[in-house]
Amino acid sequence: MSSRRKKIYEGKAKILFEGPEPGTLIQYFKDDTTAFNATKKAVLEGKGVLNNRISEYIMTRLNSIGVQNHFIRRLNLREQLIKEVEIIPLEVVCRNIAAGSMAERLGIPEGQALPRSIIEFYFKDDKLNDPLVTEEHITAFNWASTQDIDDMLAMTLRVNDFLTGLFSGVGITLVDFKVEFGRVWENDFSKVLLADEISPDSCRLWDSTNNNEKLDKDRFRRDLGGVIEGYTEVARRLGIMKEMPTVIQGGIPSGVH
Ligand code: UDP
Repeated sequence: MSSRRKKIYEGKAKILFEGPEPGTLIQYFKDDTTAFNATKKAVLEGKGVLNNRISEYIMTRLNSIGVQNHFIRRLNLREQLIKEVEIIPLEVVCRNIAAGSMAERLGIPEGQALPRSIIEFYFKDDKLNDPLVTEEHITAFNWASTQDIDDMLAMTLRVNDFLTGLFSGVGITLVDFKVEFGRVWENDFSKVLLADEISPDSCRLWDSTNNNEKLDKDRFRRDLGGVIEGYTEVARRLGIMKEMPTVIQGGIPSGVH
């Protein structure tokens, strides 16, 4: 049970607890769901379990192709052991198809393929509504070095290439996604690792076998209903649903928090 552990940080969808050994943390996935900077909220039963498992699967696959990340191992339905990193205060968004804030900001119809993948940086600050920033801001305000930026760009493109292929193989279009990075220190040198989570909370995933139906958090943002069903379908397509039949068959077992 998570309550015995010291809470290090609580965010909108996850809690970080002290880990069993120095340099580790436990990442707990909540069912809480927020959008529009937490002005819209709900508790979607089973979401945390799904995102824990989906993120585990993706991080493990990324690790196996050399995209180093914070994931160590999953501990239970809602928790995973991760490496403690110093979070870089940026949200790195990669887009293949215009949607969401980019479609709105630049007046591009949602669904239009972009001429090439585009990476954007947003400064992580809820009070400011996570503003779009440039590399100039990032280096001037010391949020990350030019080397860190190069590493984040290269890793994000590798994540995009890998995930685009992974999802297209199961009839899902990767429209865009958000990743976060952190630093670990080895002697005087720092290394950038992929951190946070990769799940339908942080990706736009469209079902190419069914009229581009949304299988991601836009179902919540846009009141489309069937949010859990969408996330479950992503897990099912990835072939990881059979390991957690309780989620589809009658919800989460009682006593699992
Ligand atoms: N995203 C995210 N967290 C955020 C903002 C965006 O995970 O705080 C993801 C979002 O799910 C989408 C991508 O980043 O896959 C691009 O989001 P966008 O900038 O279009 O913002 P939104 O339309 O969600 O406000």
